[in-house]
Amino acid sequence: MLHAELEILLEIQDLQTLRRDIAEAEYAAAGIPVDVDAFTARLGERIAEREDQLSPRTNTRYRRIASRHERVVAPVLNGVCYGCFVHVPTSKGHDRERNGELRTCESCGRFIYYTD
Ligand SMILES: [Zn+2]
Repeated sequence: MLHAELEILLEIQDLQTLRRDIAEAEYAAAGIPVDVDAFTARLGERIAEREDQLSPRTNTRYRRIASRHERVVAPVLNGVCYGCFVHVPTSKGHDRERNGELRTCESCGRFIYYTD
């Protein structure tokens, strides 16, 4: 069970990644017919809509992380945050429920989700 805000944050991050990819020359070189400006604008609107769905507390935290890091959510694999590559304390609770809470890395501050 994924925390509702974690789901939103992951979607925002994916939309931001796509927005960056679209602006890359390789994207056009691959023959994908994209109106870069229109798609970038639409993605920006959708990102803003999703940001508005975050609670004020999470939104504040999200903006603080986003001002420092391109990536706001990082996976944890084998107990290591892949945002800063520092070991994170083992989470309490059942494996399946670990992503049911919104957690941040104590070292880099990014939101984290467990992928192992
Ligand atoms: Zn970290």
